[in-house]
Amino acid sequence: MSDLSELPKSRREALAAGAARFFTGNPCKHGHLAYRYACGGACSACSDAVTLARYYRVKGTPEYKEARRAKAQRQRQQNPEQVAVWLADWKIRNAERRRQYRIDRRSLYAAHAAKRRAAELERTPVWADERQTQSMYEVAARMSRSFGIEMQVDHVVPLQGERVSGLHVHYNLQIIPALVNQKKSNRFEVTA
Ligand SMILES: [Zn+2]
Repeated sequence: MSDLSELPKSRREALAAGAARFFTGNPCKHGHLAYRYACGGACSACSDAVTLARYYRVKGTPEYKEARRAKAQRQRQQNPEQVAVWLADWKIRNAERRRQYRIDRRSLYAAHAAKRRAAELERTPVWADERQTQSMYEVAARMSRSFGIEMQVDHVVPLQGERVSGLHVHYNLQIIPALVNQKKSNRFEVTA
């Protein structure tokens, strides 16, 4: 739409002029300052939002995902060179998204890995609050995302220390940058 002020000012005016759109100059009830459709009078921004929501609902269905998988497979078989070019191009355009995805995956995987390791070492007491523990990993993932560097959940007193061993419980956990965590490993200063 080039210039909203050139549109008819009301629906009545638009219908009289045979125009498809009009612009009152007032926001819709959702606050959009957008043109409206003469046919029905709906706000165009609201209509776009509804269309978009419907589109994502359809895209999220198993049928749609299956159809996409089948199409991708067909393309890979029929034209592998072209698919390789597309993929390489996509990777370049989505470098940042890929980096974030890897960080998210690592953070979520860390929670499972720590749980498994603590179980093997029998360092999770029966009274541990698993929800609190899990939330530490979720917070670490969110921090990684907003800081743009990987944050990890670390045991203040290591599960398998040289002199003392800690528990897999939330108050023995701290969130620190991955780089710091790698340097720390299993060291814990015991001051006697
Ligand atoms: Zn609207």
